[in-house]
Amino acid sequence: YDDRDGWIWMDGEMRPWRDCKVHVLTHAMHYGSAVFEGQRAYNGTIFKLKEHTERLFKSAELLGMKVPFTQQEINDACYEVMNKAGYKDCYFRPIIWRGSEMMGVAAQKNTIHAAIACWEWPSYFSPEARLRGLRLDIAQWRRPAPDTAPTAAKASGLYMICTLSKHAAEAKGYDDALMYDYRGQVAEATGANVFFVQDGKIHTPKPDCFLDGITRRSVIDLARRRGIEVIERAIMPDEMEGFEQAFLTGTAAEVTPLSEIGPFKFEVGEITKSLMFDYDALVRGQLPA
Ligand code: PMP
Repeated sequence: YDDRDGWIWMDGEMRPWRDCKVHVLTHAMHYGSAVFEGQRAYNGTIFKLKEHTERLFKSAELLGMKVPFTQQEINDACYEVMNKAGYKDCYFRPIIWRGSEMMGVAAQKNTIHAAIACWEWPSYFSPEARLRGLRLDIAQWRRPAPDTAPTAAKASGLYMICTLSKHAAEAKGYDDALMYDYRGQVAEATGANVFFVQDGKIHTPKPDCFLDGITRRSVIDLARRRGIEVIERAIMPDEMEGFEQAFLTGTAAEVTPLSEIGPFKFEVGEITKSLMFDYDALVRGQLPA
C-alpha cells in the first residue's frame, strides 16, 4: 500500500504518501512497540473521532509511550488528511510507534512517532459475503489473559495471532476466524467483536481480555433503544448451538451478519438486519447520537 499518490500526515506535517518510510531498525518492527486506531468518516464527518483518539492515547500510555501531540492536534490532523485527499467517506489509520535511535528491548529514549493515513475503503467484507452472512472458522490461537499482555490496548503486537488466524481461515475458504480466549470462552473475530441473538435477546462476551469496540458500544446502545435486552456475559463455545443469529461489529466491518461459525449455523435475521440499518443511520447522522 506504499506505492501510490496522496498525502499522509507524519510527525506533524503533510508528506507525500510514497515518502512516508521508516528505518529497518525501528523499535516498533522488532519489538511490537506500536499502537493504532481505525475510524471512518461518513459524508465528511468522522464517526466517534473523540473516542478513537482517546483510545489511541490510552493504548500508547499502556505501552509506555507519550504521544508528542495533543488529542486535539491528532483530531485536527485527521480532518486535514481527509480534506487534502478530498474524501467524504473514508477509513483512517492513525499509528503511534517507537523509533530507531537505539536498538534493544529497552529503548526509553527513542523518539515516539505519529502518522495518519486515510483511504477509501467501502466495505471490509465483500457486499455479497455481507448479504449472505460471513463464514467463520474457529481459530487455533486464543486471546491472551490480561496479565499476559496489555489486552485493552489496540497494540500492533496483539494482531500477530489475528493475522495467523485469518490467514489459516482464508486458506480453508472461510471469510474470517472466531477466537476463543485463554479460558476457552468465545472472545471476538480477528478484527471485530461478536454478538449472538436468541429468543429476541442479544448476548455478547464481556470485553475483559479483548478490545471493547467503539462500534460494539454503539450497537449495544442502538439495541437497547429498540427495547432489545443486551446481556454481556461469559459465552462458552457449545452455547453457539442454540443461537439463532450472529453478527460482527467493528469500524471496518460495521454490522456484518454471520451465517456459520465452525459447525454452527445462523440465519440473517430481523434483529441483525435492523441493527445494520440503525448503525448505518447513526453513522450518517440520521439518528440522534
Ligand atoms: N476487536 C479487534 C481485534 C479489532 O481490531 C477491532 C477493530 N478496531 C474491534 C474489535 C472493533 O473495535 P471498533 O468497533 O472500535 O472498531
